[in-house]
Amino acid sequence: MRYAVLSDIHGNYEALSAVLDDIAQFTAEQRAPVDAIWCLGDIVGYGPEPHECVQRVREISALCVAGNHDWAAIGKLDLDEFTPVAANSAKWTAEQLSAQDRIYLRGLPEVTLFDDFTLTHGSPLNPIWEYLTSPLAATPNFGAFETPFCLVGHTHVPTIFLLADDVRPLPPPPLILTENRVSSAFAPGDSDLAPFPDIEAIPMTAGILCEHITPAPGLWLMPDHRRAIVNPGSVGQPRDGDPRAAYIIFDSDLGFEFRRVAYDVVTTQRKMSAQGLSQRMAERLEKGV
Ligand code: ZN
Repeated sequence: MRYAVLSDIHGNYEALSAVLDDIAQFTAEQRAPVDAIWCLGDIVGYGPEPHECVQRVREISALCVAGNHDWAAIGKLDLDEFTPVAANSAKWTAEQLSAQDRIYLRGLPEVTLFDDFTLTHGSPLNPIWEYLTSPLAATPNFGAFETPFCLVGHTHVPTIFLLADDVRPLPPPPLILTENRVSSAFAPGDSDLAPFPDIEAIPMTAGILCEHITPAPGLWLMPDHRRAIVNPGSVGQPRDGDPRAAYIIFDSDLGFEFRRVAYDVVTTQRKMSAQGLSQRMAERLEKGV
């Protein structure tokens, strides 16, 4: 099976189109189709074409989970949690969305499961908000999903956290969350977002039990029988110093291929300027930061 995994499109239709063209080209070259396209949230926010991106993702994506920007744009999250730039962008984005877009975004689950994969935006412990940027943060999350792999986005940086092979499985995560919150983590499509847990309250007793790998573009051959949390990076707003759109093609016979695709950054910047969107966010796109 082959799955294309996209995350953090952020209203950048130029980048999304380039990635979809690349998937089509991959299919033609390999003479083997990608069986499904998945999306890990933040379809909208910052970028100039949120409606077009939601429409396209609805057409092509077999599975999609909610990101913080998706729910901010429909009023499902409080904008107090956002920086002023992100809050302004969410207000502008809200005006661009159709009724159908809003229904779609509102109905996205925080977590969904398919085959060997758990999909979520931030982390299994805190699907909407947690940034998995370190092994210390990633380690307790291995106790919060049961599949071999968890796919996350949110940081905009391609990353692998690989669980140590003599640890199987970690004990369930400590009950730092409310019952409502814990159940929502395992119940796709569950109701409203529960209170944001206090990150400081997560006990560190689990220690660091996973490797932190920053994958270069290309194929990552998965070691046998190891669990991993994998982040494809961002389609529409990469932040790893490479401005090209990032995504993954997973091949069950091979592993995870981290792909980068050049797109027309200048056109996206022009569209942002024309809409009066943040100049600073537009400039960041050309540097990939
Ligand atoms: Zn994002």
